[in-house]
Amino acid sequence: MAESGNLSAILKKKGELVMEDTPIPQPGKNEVQLQMQAVGICGSDVHYWVHGNIGDFIVKKPIILGHEGSGIVSAVGEGVTHLKVGDRVAIEPGLPCRMCKHCKQGRYNLCADMEFCATPPTDGNLRRYYCHAADFCYKLPDNVSLEEGALLEPLAVGVHACRRAGVYLGSHVLVCGAGPIGLVTLLTAKAMGAAEVAITDLEQGRLDMAKKLGANHCIKVDSRDPQVMAKKIEEAFGEQPDITIECSGAEPSVQTGIYATASGGCIVLVGLGAPTATIPIVNAAVREVDIRGIFRYANCYPTALAMIASGKVDPKPLITHHFPLAKSIDAFEVSKTGAGGAIKVMIHCNE
Ligand code: NAD
Ligand code: ZN
Repeated sequence: MAESGNLSAILKKKGELVMEDTPIPQPGKNEVQLQMQAVGICGSDVHYWVHGNIGDFIVKKPIILGHEGSGIVSAVGEGVTHLKVGDRVAIEPGLPCRMCKHCKQGRYNLCADMEFCATPPTDGNLRRYYCHAADFCYKLPDNVSLEEGALLEPLAVGVHACRRAGVYLGSHVLVCGAGPIGLVTLLTAKAMGAAEVAITDLEQGRLDMAKKLGANHCIKVDSRDPQVMAKKIEEAFGEQPDITIECSGAEPSVQTGIYATASGGCIVLVGLGAPTATIPIVNAAVREVDIRGIFRYANCYPTALAMIASGKVDPKPLITHHFPLAKSIDAFEVSKTGAGGAIKVMIHCNE
């Protein structure tokens, strides 16, 4: 199909999202050009649109949004040997420097010079054509769809969170918050062998989705007292969970997570809320509850892909809405408001 332009979703500045043509990029050395296919909208894309920043990442110049993408290789640059035109790939959106201590140790998500799609000032891939480092593109087997390829991005967050938490055969895992990230964490924990997963949320609709995806206990947060909530969680499991993975970022939920975790256990903080928070630190200290953070993921795409390809995980029910690229602004509106029970809104860049 001949394309005249490169329709792109550009955030000009806070609150101003437009659809405009941008130049079609040509692949450099070790890069591939991709005809973009499915791109999921992430909470961070919406946040940049509505608020113009996330912490110190500030939209100071126009930026193309989108980072949960898949594409079809439309040209290959010099030196690329493992991909060819026509290959369907999932795009890991963060390109680290590959030179620093963290990169060399394999924890490249901690690289200070990371260029991550749709994190200012780096452009994202919600457009018709986009070029990316070939070694951060993962060829999809025939039984994995392009939409599932796009879902590898949030799934990789779930994989990294469960790895950092040490989820293991038989684990009892509490997931706090049943948004897209909590739900992929639930799916991953089950696939990694967790015996039971409980999940919390304020909204019944989200808990209903969690039930559909295999949560053993769905707990509605109906008290502001974190110790009351922790008790309810213990009652649901019949004991305290070994592992808590906090995916809401809400301060009371972090507090609940600490109280709820068994002594000697671990809480992983995935949700990012206010920059500082009051948490029961002495309770965690004297019960040796480890508090760990995560930032995105490293070396998780191959695992996330294998989980889908092998049928261990089916993330497709997360996709609630579909839009063509030209209707991206409508798609963002639905994602922002959560209209119609929206969880993951998928944009199709070839339509
Ligand atoms: P989301 O806002 O869609 O989901 C959050 C869910 O938490 C919602 O369903 C909400 O109802 C629920 N919630 C709010 N307060 C709660 C409470 N007190 N107790 C229980 N549940 C509560 O967001 P998402 O896209 O699922 O992302 C979740 C969080 O993860 C965000 O804070 C996001 O910034 C963060 N995140 C972090 C990383 C990382 O690398 N650390 C990566 C991706 C996302
Ligand atoms: Zn680096």
